[in-house]
Amino acid sequence: MLKIAIQKSGRLSEDSLKLLKDCGIDLRNVKDRLRTESDNFPVEVFFLRDDDIPQYVEDGVADIGFVGENVVYEKKKAVQVREKLGFGKCRLSIAVKKSDDYSAVSFLQGKKIATSYPVLVQDYLDKKGISAEIHEISGSVEIAPGIGLADAVCDLVSSGSTLFMNGLKEVENILQSQAVLITGKHLDKEKEQILERLLFRMQAVKKAKNNKYVLLNAPNDQLQKIIALLPGMKSPTVLPLAEPGWSSVHSVIEENDFWNIIEQLKDNGAQGILVVPIEKMIV
Ligand code: ATP
Ligand code: ZN
Repeated sequence: MLKIAIQKSGRLSEDSLKLLKDCGIDLRNVKDRLRTESDNFPVEVFFLRDDDIPQYVEDGVADIGFVGENVVYEKKKAVQVREKLGFGKCRLSIAVKKSDDYSAVSFLQGKKIATSYPVLVQDYLDKKGISAEIHEISGSVEIAPGIGLADAVCDLVSSGSTLFMNGLKEVENILQSQAVLITGKHLDKEKEQILERLLFRMQAVKKAKNNKYVLLNAPNDQLQKIIALLPGMKSPTVLPLAEPGWSSVHSVIEENDFWNIIEQLKDNGAQGILVVPIEKMIV
């Protein structure tokens, strides 16, 4: 049995549960948010505060955890990042008042910075050779400058609207973060095997999200050009259409160059292009 720690309630909770579900793992009584098991995969799930997850994983109370990189690097526990999970994306940034005349990081010299991430902020300041006073607070960091508690803040940002609404502007980015899968120092053989099965499934889910299945009709005289645009997993499938002179082409393309390829397909005479999501992709 592999013990997994995930956030009990917060920004990572739903995506963590969805990832397990997408991996085909059914969980009982998820609503209780205490501890649960699966009937179809050897895992047990613990619901915890995100800040506590690295410690539980270090201690072996949980074997693995899903948690933000920001928390992993702040806590500095003996854990390893095994996989990036692709959700919970945000950045840890320093912000100052909009009216401040900020031109370089030297602005922060001797200033007071409010943050929930004292370790990461101190590391950053040391690297830049700046000495500033760090004021650790656990929530609502963004209001600190407005109430005279600090000159600057260092907080998690995704859209930047919270900073903006509090009269702040983002001036330095100190970390790009997303949710990751962490493991303790040592997993026994049985647990390691379960983890590898889980990672295999996660990679199939992730790959499927980044790829689309494409079906199109191509005039036979353009077929070679169209096939050249579609590398697919091995090579595209080509089937004759009932109408002479036409073929149906099936392939897989990556989300990244998706529109580019579609435009070129059209320019080369492809018609009736269908793009379909892929649920799982095992290569
Ligand atoms: P807990 O009660 O578990 O301690 P919390 O209030 O510390 O919850 P959340 O606000 O739910 O935590 O954030 C959890 C994680 O989500 C963060 O540590 C970070 O990795 C990620 N995250 C993604 N976007 C943002 C954002 N805009 N602001 C804050 N966290 C974000
Ligand atoms: Zn937290």
